[in-house]
Order: sequence, then structure tokens, then C-alpha cells
Amino acid sequence: MATEQTLSIIKPDAVGKNVIGEILSRFESNGLRVKAMKMVRLTTEQAKAFYAVHADKPFYNDLVEFMISGPVVVSVLEGDNAIAKNRELMGATNPKEADAGTIRADYATSIDANAVHGSDSPETAAEEVAFFFNHLEVFDRDA
Ligand code: UDP
Repeated sequence: MATEQTLSIIKPDAVGKNVIGEILSRFESNGLRVKAMKMVRLTTEQAKAFYAVHADKPFYNDLVEFMISGPVVVSVLEGDNAIAKNRELMGATNPKEADAGTIRADYATSIDANAVHGSDSPETAAEEVAFFFNHLEVFDRDA
């Protein structure tokens, strides 16, 4: 299996629900290691840029407003098939469709306020990691 890195965001709703530790613990207990981490409050410009791929979607403005509504916890997770593994742990975008036991089934409020973000491909993972972290902030695989 390929060792990969992926970008995770614990969104403002989950930070507000005080479940940062619960979510990180799911990553760790499922073979993902935290290689970089910080808590930040995004500016409007940063949230717009991060979600630029959705700029033409009807939910874009609400998504940006939601993402700037409070602090988020951003991390780089590493492990075998980390991108797919993280998305499996997250569950479906709409928590009503998320499998039982997934992060979104347990902690998301709605399709908008859905607790977590995870990169969806190696290309977006690389872009999203670089969006938040420089190379000195992401620790080596064996560190
Ligand atoms: N989103 C939303 N309404 C929708 C679809 C998506 O508010 O109808 C938000 C939601 O927060 C989602 C994000 O836009 O996590 C990005 O959507 P995407 O389809 O990429 O889902 P994800 O990869 O986060 O599961």
C-alpha cells in the first residue's frame, strides 16, 4: 500500500462541539499519524481560495461564511492510503447518508456544517497541504 499524506480540517462546528480530541483519536486509532497541525481562523479570502473549486456552486457563499465562523484545526495526516482512509473515517458529505460510526454520522450537524474536510485525491492533497503548511512545518515520515 502507498504511504500518502492528506489534509484534514476539523471545521468550526466540530471545534464548537468540543470534539477535536475525539476526531483526532479516530485518525490515530486507524493508522493515521499527525505530521503537522495548527488551529487557525480563516479570513474570507482564505476560505474563498481554499474552496475556489466550488465557486460556481449555489452553496459556495454559505460554505465560505461557515468556514470563517470560528477557528478550525488543520492537520496533515499520513499513513497507508491516507486519502481514502480519511474519507472513509469521515463518512458521506451529507451526515444523513454517512455510515454509522463515521465522524460525520456522529458529529456533523448538516450537509453544510459537516464537521470535517479531507482531501479527495493525491493532487488536491498536495495543493491543500501546501495551502496551510510550509515544508518546515510538516514532519518527516519517520519523525
Ligand atoms: N457543501 C454544502 N452543501 C452541499 C454540498 C457541499 O454546504 O450541497 C459543503 C460541505 O461543507 C462540503 C463542502 O461543501 O463538505 C465541499 O463539498 P464536497 O462535495 O467537496 O464534499 P466533501 O469532499 O467535503 O465530502
